[in-house]
Amino acid sequence: MINIALFGAPGAGKGTQSQMLVEKYDLSYVSTGDMLRKEIAEGTELGKRIKSIMDAGELVSDEIVVEIIEKIIATNTRKGILFDGFPRNVAQAETLENLLKNHGTELLCMVSLDVPREELIRRMLERAKVSGRSDDNEETIKNRLHEYESKTLPVADYYKGKGLYVEINGYGDIQEISNNIMAAIDAKIAAK
Ligand code: AMP
Repeated sequence: MINIALFGAPGAGKGTQSQMLVEKYDLSYVSTGDMLRKEIAEGTELGKRIKSIMDAGELVSDEIVVEIIEKIIATNTRKGILFDGFPRNVAQAETLENLLKNHGTELLCMVSLDVPREELIRRMLERAKVSGRSDDNEETIKNRLHEYESKTLPVADYYKGKGLYVEINGYGDIQEISNNIMAAIDAKIAAK
């Protein structure tokens, strides 16, 4: 199976690149952020619990996102899974490893999109004009970048240690970035 985690700060372009990757490799797609926003939009009990956390730009609890991920892994019928926005901390990375192992599979690689901080902020503020996302405002963006730097960046080291980390320049032409990601994934598949 081709299981890939897409990694990068908020605004790095994970959502955009995901669309191209799921088509090319025939993958199930899961964005924990999208799933959580859906709970809020539908006004579920869970949605009510997590709204203030997401509005503050903080991470929601591991149990909640792990439940979402478990469901996707158990019901996947495609050639693999693309994880967008997960794992977000080292505990989630360890859980993912165990869940995939229980299903007789593993992560092929973590692709990290590297984008300068000023560009991330510029993109998120630009997106705010159309996204309607309540966390795309200057104050929350700062918190999201802080959560990323303190909790999510260590995930990169975790995967570097396992030889699964691939860094791609995420600043430039979208198609070119996409080609570079696919070349890196193809190399990982060929090396398996
Ligand atoms: P995203 O759409 O990936 O930028 O995520 C938006 C928000 O959803 C984050 O700021 C967190 O509050 C929450 N979230 C998404 N994925 C996770 C995760 N794996 N762990 C914890 N919180 C998450």
